[in-house]
Amino acid sequence: MPEQHEFGFHTRAIHAGARPEPVTGARAIPIFQTTSYVFEDADAAAAYFNLQEYGNTYSRIMNPTVAAFEERIANLEGGVGSVAFASGLAAQTAALFTMLQPGDHMLASSALYGGTLTQLKHLMRKLSVGLTFVDPDDVDGWKRALTPATKVLFGETIGNPAGNVLDIEALAELAHAHGAPLMVDNTFATPYLCRPIEWGADIVVHSATKFIGGHGTSIGGVVVDSGEFDWSNGRYQVVADPSPAYHGLSFHETFGIYGYLMKLRAETLRDLGAALSPFNAFLFMQGLETLPLRMARHVENARRVAEFLAGHPAVSSVRFAEQATSPHRELARKYLPNGAGAVFCFDLVGGRAAGKTFIEALTLFSHLANVGDAKSLVIHPASTTHRQLDDAELAAAGIGPGTIRLSVGIEDAVDLIWDLRQALGALR
Ligand SMILES: *Cc1c(COP(=O)(O)O)cnc(C)c1O
Repeated sequence: MPEQHEFGFHTRAIHAGARPEPVTGARAIPIFQTTSYVFEDADAAAAYFNLQEYGNTYSRIMNPTVAAFEERIANLEGGVGSVAFASGLAAQTAALFTMLQPGDHMLASSALYGGTLTQLKHLMRKLSVGLTFVDPDDVDGWKRALTPATKVLFGETIGNPAGNVLDIEALAELAHAHGAPLMVDNTFATPYLCRPIEWGADIVVHSATKFIGGHGTSIGGVVVDSGEFDWSNGRYQVVADPSPAYHGLSFHETFGIYGYLMKLRAETLRDLGAALSPFNAFLFMQGLETLPLRMARHVENARRVAEFLAGHPAVSSVRFAEQATSPHRELARKYLPNGAGAVFCFDLVGGRAAGKTFIEALTLFSHLANVGDAKSLVIHPASTTHRQLDDAELAAAGIGPGTIRLSVGIEDAVDLIWDLRQALGALR
């Protein structure tokens, strides 16, 4: 027997969840492009549908390629398991849908991805779930906003686009004292830069569309469960009680630490139907193999670009959490010791008009609505991703009329700085 040995992050990013395919010996994970699976016999089929045996029935609920991706990401985040979805927003909806019911209340950071702000505002109202947005930096503010109906606290490790760093440990303590889970969107940090579960988060969600895929090719999302939260504390009947949507099964009692994940898959994914395609799962597996290499390079380039911008007279402020002037520097040191990501905002002295001229003058940066690509990207949030928000909401999200968001890619840093310098020159 070899000695006990724990594999490092780079090794797990390449190997976790995948083994050579036993029938053909294929080393890469095959794309199981199939809707369904032939049952061994009638009893096996019944056992699968009763959840007495864990096995493939139909690819809306599970698929071997998707399962390999789920296992790898759960491993990298340090969770007990995960369920993948067709997009990051589908993953968030499903994670909340599984734990909440009408009359519940949730707290969310006011500095979130624009699509998430819109999603929460409208969807939660339709579901009759109360929602309060709070300043992510003000832990006392989160505490004051708690109500007896508050069932979940939600924020992003690195806020988009304000660049704030969430005080995960403090908020996890607050949530747990209230008998509620802390859910964290770790899209911008990825498990390479931060693993929220290590700081007490209970549920971690990702838009795999971003750094996990890493090449701007595929939309997907995933929900990871720490397995630590006690859903039987009397506040989550929807997880703990016999389920009318699954012939009276109690997910918590039957599956223990896997109860929430089983309900998320067997009920919520089954009923919402937003399944990840096996092809996209394959591309996300490819992405994860190089995630640590890419993230290290993204961070290195982001640091150099931030430093250049901070010294330029056409730039009024740079909101990168590692900078000496950042109010989030201490939190970044604690939660993101290997780098505060590669997506950050800066403000142009010239406001909205300068924003338009600047973006149109860039040649290497692509103007589009995405982040986390190997390619460098740029956008003007006030006129695009956060367009649905009014001025007060924009201000609460930390966005001004001249705010520019960069997603720094893995090209040569000198080339990125060359492009930024010439586009800033166009403002004179
Ligand atoms: C993109 C993004 C989402 C939404 O993910 P999709 O895959 O586009 O649905 C959620 N959160 C953050 C931080 C994102 O960047």
